[in-house]
Amino acid sequence: MGGSWWAHDVMLPRRQVLVGSALGMAGAAFLMLRPEASQAAGMREKPLPDNLQVCTPKDALTRLQEGNARFAKAWTTASATGTPEQRMHQLNSIWEQNCQIDPIALAMGQQPFAAILCCADSRVDPGWLFACGSGELFQVRSAGNTAFDEAIASLEYAVAVLGTPLVVSMGHSGCGAVKAAIATEPLTPLLEVLVKPIRANLRSGDDLTQAIEGNARYAAAQLTARSAVLMDAVAAGKLTIRSAFFDIGSGKVSML
Ligand SMILES: [Zn+2]
Repeated sequence: MGGSWWAHDVMLPRRQVLVGSALGMAGAAFLMLRPEASQAAGMREKPLPDNLQVCTPKDALTRLQEGNARFAKAWTTASATGTPEQRMHQLNSIWEQNCQIDPIALAMGQQPFAAILCCADSRVDPGWLFACGSGELFQVRSAGNTAFDEAIASLEYAVAVLGTPLVVSMGHSGCGAVKAAIATEPLTPLLEVLVKPIRANLRSGDDLTQAIEGNARYAAAQLTARSAVLMDAVAAGKLTIRSAFFDIGSGKVSML
């Protein structure tokens, strides 16, 4: 999608939006979101002045894919390079074409062009693998990239307040959380909570990669299933939601 995607263009629905189901509450208690409510809560951020705006890609998904192609090329080239110094030089080359983020602009606010729901795994750094800098990606991360209530609420903020036009739910190769969900070893009570939604979506016969991809697709589907804010933004053509798989070995992100 192109065109208008700045923060002030993506407003919460004019009507009152009930997102009680997204919060897992049964009927009586719910959160009512509307533009004036978010302003009253001090959530809305002012658009940056024209002379201080950060990168403004016309198409957010294309920008992500181009950034990842640059990263993957440097990643595979570095893998075939002899010394650690040479490998680091190759990887640093991806920053040469990167947007120059203005620190004054970042001190004034943020207008990330994409939001990434992904794993907490230390090898899965969205800024690194999409060749982005500070201010460009809104990141929601926990092991297993599950769409928990807090994750969905965070993405509602990115979309409704910051005007982010693209959300990507991304799994990755060798995900430890999905491995734990598949395995039968006992976990701590809190880790059981973490893997419960992953287990619920497992299909018999799936290998690890298929389970990881299915988990990313499921988390993406949960965003509109459980959030009226995100569902309305998609219906209005102001938000695109995709799922993806990051292969650590090749450095490539594949859209699912
Ligand atoms: Zn993981």
